[in-house]
Amino acid sequence: MPPKYPYMPPDRFLKYVPVDHPFMLAAAQAREACAGDPLYPVGIVMVKDGQVVARAGNGFNRGPGKVHVCPRIVLDCPSGTGYELCDLHDAPGHSERMLLQAARDSGIDPAGSDVYMFGHWWACEPCWTALIEAGVRDLYVVDDAHERFSREKVYGETLTPSVRTVSLEGFYGDRLQAVRGQLWELGLEEVDQDADVRCVMGDDGARCVLRGDIDPVYTVEIGDKLPQQLKNVLRQL
Ligand SMILES: [Zn+2]
Ligand SMILES: [Zn+2]
Repeated sequence: MPPKYPYMPPDRFLKYVPVDHPFMLAAAQAREACAGDPLYPVGIVMVKDGQVVARAGNGFNRGPGKVHVCPRIVLDCPSGTGYELCDLHDAPGHSERMLLQAARDSGIDPAGSDVYMFGHWWACEPCWTALIEAGVRDLYVVDDAHERFSREKVYGETLTPSVRTVSLEGFYGDRLQAVRGQLWELGLEEVDQDADVRCVMGDDGARCVLRGDIDPVYTVEIGDKLPQQLKNVLRQL
């Protein structure tokens, strides 16, 4: 049964190839090399006359390895919503738009090309619109993409903390207990000093500061959901 897509243009559909298709392998390489989104990395290539003529990744091609705490994940935004909250996951940084940009930057007209995307299973409305307006013929994904790259699967791999130790400063009472419960669920150890992440409760919320940094990588707002949202930050670190 075909998956139900959050968006599909009325007169278009995705095409599918196996994961070891040569152009899909090229897209997988682009994902490794170009994707600046560590949480949902996507690679993409443009093929014209049987040749890969352009490649890109999502996250504005910032390249792998940058810490990004996504507000959409902190706030548990449903799939396909909340892009406006995040400057990395905003539609202009999606792999499809980055690819069209990369092609045009090197003087290649995308019209009549095919596009192969590795790392995702559907394309959002702004991306489809951009591909169609650029004259792209077909958008290919891996034949099992909706399972291989489902949110649960991808986040299961990328939303596991690489930090190990956390210090909690300025937390008391029920809030302290709730946050400790979240640390325990993530398998993180609470330490008094020299932590990988310091969580400091202040007037503006819970500031999460990575070891060696001064500025917080994220500040969780004060509210009922603070423990859950703090957990969502730590999962991304
Ligand atoms: Zn984001
Ligand atoms: Zn998109």
